[in-house]
Amino acid sequence: MSFYREDYVKVKKNFEDRRRNAEDKALEDKRKIACADIPGLKEICDKLDATGPRVYAAALEGKESYAKKLMAIRRENEELLKKQSELLLSHGYPEDYFDIEYNCPICHDEGNVNGKMCVCMKNELIKAGYESSGISGLCDKMSFDTFDLSYYSGADRKNMEVIVERARDFAEDFRDTGSGSILFFGGTGLGKTHLSVAVAKRVIEGGHWCVYTTAGTLFTDLRDTRFTDDKSERDNINKYYDCELLVIDDLGTELNGRDVVPFLYNLLNSRINTKKSTLISTNLSQNKLLELYDDRIVSRLFGEFLPFRFTGKDVRMQKLQR
Ligand SMILES: [Zn+2]
Repeated sequence: MSFYREDYVKVKKNFEDRRRNAEDKALEDKRKIACADIPGLKEICDKLDATGPRVYAAALEGKESYAKKLMAIRRENEELLKKQSELLLSHGYPEDYFDIEYNCPICHDEGNVNGKMCVCMKNELIKAGYESSGISGLCDKMSFDTFDLSYYSGADRKNMEVIVERARDFAEDFRDTGSGSILFFGGTGLGKTHLSVAVAKRVIEGGHWCVYTTAGTLFTDLRDTRFTDDKSERDNINKYYDCELLVIDDLGTELNGRDVVPFLYNLLNSRINTKKSTLISTNLSQNKLLELYDDRIVSRLFGEFLPFRFTGKDVRMQKLQR
């Protein structure tokens, strides 16, 4: 489980900020309020704050006396804490008023427990992955759970059942490299985008770095950076090369793609050579694709990608009719 590094850095920082905030800021605010309200509380809090330095001083004084002094400090602290609770209670505050309220009670906002990633951090990374991959606006509606096979009948239904199952297996068994590539093709409105997003979503949930793009956006990006040496512009397209799963939706709908064919070919080739997975969906037939691009691309698609042909009646039309 690697997740997208930039997401990880961002989420990790959020956790640190949150934790610091919970520990310092929130506690400080609470303390100000309660100490202004309750006579004698501030002295107790100050004494408790001095515990660390006192333990340190005791340690410096020598081994023999250390254990004894530590015990005394501990006993004193217990007394102070008891008094603190009593004071809080008697002034109408909850006994645990000074307990830190962490967002996550399991890891106390550390993000990990016993060296293992906490479920709260994993969830944050998944959410960040939806955002950075480009599917956040789509993945609520488009998942494996919401793929409705009742729109397909007879042989189409059987065919689609197999495709959904294979796509699910692909997503669930996904590895950083070596999972192969997939081509979804067939007429419009047969669920290719839906299933592409479902795969991306599941792969992200598995902790992988996924980028989702339409062919139109990809071509614009490739076109913009064709001849540039500008690092930030190049960084923008590096994600298409580096991510673990690249989903290109609707290949063939973009206008006039011939000029970027060499760059698209280079991208697909690079991903194949580094054993990275790509999922491409297209409404076009093999012949149409040949007309639009060239045989090098098409032979890559039908030679290296596992093809799934979507069949049935346009689901969008059926939905309108229902
Ligand atoms: Zn947690």
